[in-house]
Amino acid sequence: MTFAAPLQTLASAPTTAAPASPASFQHDVRHDWTSAEAQAIYHQPFNDLLFAAHLVHRAHFKPNAIQKSRLLSIKTGGCAEDCGYCSQSAHHASGLSASKLMEVERVIEEARKAKAAGATRYCMGAAWRSPKARDMAQITAMVAGVKALGLETCMTLGMLDDTQVVELKSAGLDYYNHNIDTSKAHYGNVITTRTFADRLETLARVREAGINVCSGGIVGLGETAADRVDMLVTLANLPEHPGSVPINMLIAIPGTPLENVAKVDPIDFVRTIATARILMPKSYVRLSAGRTGMSDETQALCFFAGANSIFAGDTLLTTDNPGEDADSALFAKLGLETMRAEEHCDQAHLRRSNAPAEDENMSSCREDVADAATA
Ligand code: SF4
Repeated sequence: MTFAAPLQTLASAPTTAAPASPASFQHDVRHDWTSAEAQAIYHQPFNDLLFAAHLVHRAHFKPNAIQKSRLLSIKTGGCAEDCGYCSQSAHHASGLSASKLMEVERVIEEARKAKAAGATRYCMGAAWRSPKARDMAQITAMVAGVKALGLETCMTLGMLDDTQVVELKSAGLDYYNHNIDTSKAHYGNVITTRTFADRLETLARVREAGINVCSGGIVGLGETAADRVDMLVTLANLPEHPGSVPINMLIAIPGTPLENVAKVDPIDFVRTIATARILMPKSYVRLSAGRTGMSDETQALCFFAGANSIFAGDTLLTTDNPGEDADSALFAKLGLETMRAEEHCDQAHLRRSNAPAEDENMSSCREDVADAATA
């Protein structure tokens, strides 16, 4: 059941916070958000914020459909970067041992299982500062093999150069994940081995190569609410909104510099999700790491606030995730359904501000899905 008819009525209902009137930004895709505007959205009364975010969400997505991605660590640990939250950094004593890059066949087999379990996108992550030239043949074979199964492909490999983005695009990579993590102001307190500007440069290369950008951040890095909002403003003011915006809740890992950082109030986490939805109305907002520490109620509020993507499965790169059974129970309780692959690619194409309802890429995406389904 949908509530399309009452939308206009709801959109014109009064709220107590003038800056965040739902009618004013329900359909806006903007790239000129000011920090002050976004702060006003984040800090308005919670009910007003959720109401506004939910209206935006309903205007652009099926409100009860959640896209499921699966994440596989294709090369774990031993990373040269010093991200203060990460167990995979060689700088921290987390006890995680490093592994070699996984064989292509094993990755494809894992992707096949993920598809059978309902995933529509397969994300592959390697703990690298950047890929080496010698690894690219193996990496591109993984992309092509997973794509041939009819799954969307996503990789996170660290910083990329101009040649690498072209190789990945040619192999059929749909999304590249590269999080900005936090605000520009707080970034240096968390990572010192590469800069905020480095991250934006890689995002620009990926975007210019025609690969969809997946970029978000982490809540709970010792940042202020203003930092959280400024992170979202940076993402929303990119030339094109990221197709996926993962919002993670820090899982504090013993042995990392942030192991004892103060926990974030779940209400503030929900505010971050809602603000992301309003600032980037057509992006998939992914409720990412940290769901194991969230109650069903917190996750339900996140879905109401506009989160419409999750990682499915028992593990993320190196941390626990709720698992299929827990997610099935939660989806049943909330009346949520898993988004089908063809719905997902339609919405991904329509996400682009100026995309027509039907374009060549959308048709070919549907054909890819259909071909793989009959293969
Ligand atoms: S977050 Fe990524 S880049 Fe940073 S240390 Fe971990 S694996 Fe390396």
